[in-house]
Amino acid sequence: MARRIAKLKITRSRTIELRDIALRARCGVCDCEVETLTAVQAAVALEVDRLTLDRLIADGCIHGIQTVIGSFRVCKNSLFVK
Ligand SMILES: [Zn+2]
Repeated sequence: MARRIAKLKITRSRTIELRDIALRARCGVCDCEVETLTAVQAAVALEVDRLTLDRLIADGCIHGIQTVIGSFRVCKNSLFVK
C-alpha cells in the first residue's frame, strides 16, 4: 500500500503544481507554513477515495491540518516523496 501511494505521489506532482490551489497554513508535522489542498483535491491528486485519504492521514502518511477557522486542509508537502 505505501509503495503504491509513493508512486502516485511522483506521477501526480506535476499536475498539482500546475493548479492555482495555494492556500497556506501551518503544518504541525512539517513545523512550517505550507501550501494546502482541500481533502477532495488531495484525494483526486492521489487517485484515492476519501476513506483511503482519511486512513493515510490517520497513519501519518499524509499531513492533515485543522485551520483556525475550522476548515480541514491537507499539507501539500506531504503528498510528494522527498
Ligand atoms: Zn506537512
